[in-house]
Amino acid sequence: MQDHPAIESAQPKPRRSAQARIVWGSRVVTVGGDAPVRVQSMTNTDTVDVIATAIQVKELAQAGSEVVRITVNTPEAAAAVPHVREQLDRMGIDVPLVGDFHYNGHTLLTQYPACAEALSKYRINPGNVGKGDKHDRQFSQMVEAAMRWNKPVRIGVNWGSLDQELLAQMMDENSQRAQPWDAKQVMYEALISSALQSAARAEALGMAHEQILLSCKVSGVQDLIAVYRELAKRTDHALHLGLTEAGMGTKGTVASAAALSILLQEGIGDTIRVSLTPQPGESRTQEVVIASEILQALGLRIFVPSVTACPGCGRTTSTTFQELAKQIDDFLRLQMPVWRKQYPGVEQLKVAVMGCIVNGPGESKHADIGISLPGTGEAPAAPVFIDGEKRLTLRGEGIAREFQVLVENYIQNRFGRQEVPTS
Ligand code: SF4
Repeated sequence: MQDHPAIESAQPKPRRSAQARIVWGSRVVTVGGDAPVRVQSMTNTDTVDVIATAIQVKELAQAGSEVVRITVNTPEAAAAVPHVREQLDRMGIDVPLVGDFHYNGHTLLTQYPACAEALSKYRINPGNVGKGDKHDRQFSQMVEAAMRWNKPVRIGVNWGSLDQELLAQMMDENSQRAQPWDAKQVMYEALISSALQSAARAEALGMAHEQILLSCKVSGVQDLIAVYRELAKRTDHALHLGLTEAGMGTKGTVASAAALSILLQEGIGDTIRVSLTPQPGESRTQEVVIASEILQALGLRIFVPSVTACPGCGRTTSTTFQELAKQIDDFLRLQMPVWRKQYPGVEQLKVAVMGCIVNGPGESKHADIGISLPGTGEAPAAPVFIDGEKRLTLRGEGIAREFQVLVENYIQNRFGRQEVPTS
């Protein structure tokens, strides 16, 4: 056998950013530094509709969103924000709220102090804070509001609303170069400069360095990777990472996963959002599920038990194992809000649902609990493996229900709270 050094396991690089604190009441969500990469999301309700917005924030928080952003676009929306917060507090939902401001944020944060207070962080888009001499003044007003209320800010640059004056200036400068960059490179530089110059301006106004998060969102995967690699080289501000306007369904999911995974593996990104356009009738929480799955797939966080299921093939002519895999996956996700409190560590659970004898027993032995269903032509029996040992065999119509009970019993036995003996 040819000798060579042992193959190193792949690990995401450690991060090195400053740590921001997003606070509501006793809930503190740290972002950056040694904090885990955070999942965040954004509502698509009209913020003026207090109940609808509070319900959606609650759904997003229960799905695992650690911070939720809401639109604050009008005086009515600003007036509604404290009521959304009160409604959430009444429902026992302490997830911090972020206000998304464009064009009139300086006015709303000044004229609606209860809104400024109820939010835990402000998003400032430097491309949308006003033109000409108004730009710096209105930007300063927003930063001063953040300092007055002791809130962090995200300076969120987006190529769809990039500061046009800055871009024009950089295009002019580029034309003076002996060898001008191409237009895309100038755009990358303008995105990064807009974020860094705005952060420097906020610090010059007195904002604490670590309370400033940055983002430079674009909608192309390779563009996002190029921009964030460079941004991460030039600053230690905590970075909010996301592919803007990712799109719908499979395309949006895959594009987000592709872009975010590469950057997260390089240690770039302290909080992520998946900007998915919901399919008609689809829950807004899908973006939280995908963001969580990206982090879990990379081994950066563990949120829910994992279900390993084979893809099926010509050996599985029935849909039984697909149905069982889905049923178990849905069951585990549905129970997680309760189980998280009741069974600490349950998210580490590994379940396998396999379609036949080829890989079924092997994969099931690697899981904590696994079932190998009979493929076509096999005896109608489904061996169940627990902690690597074959423990029993299920037969007949009730296999799905019986396996679900076995999973539940396993969770109770392994993760149930230990009684503290009383003397
Ligand atoms: S485990 Fe069996 S059914 Fe599943 S993909 Fe492999 S061969 Fe096909």
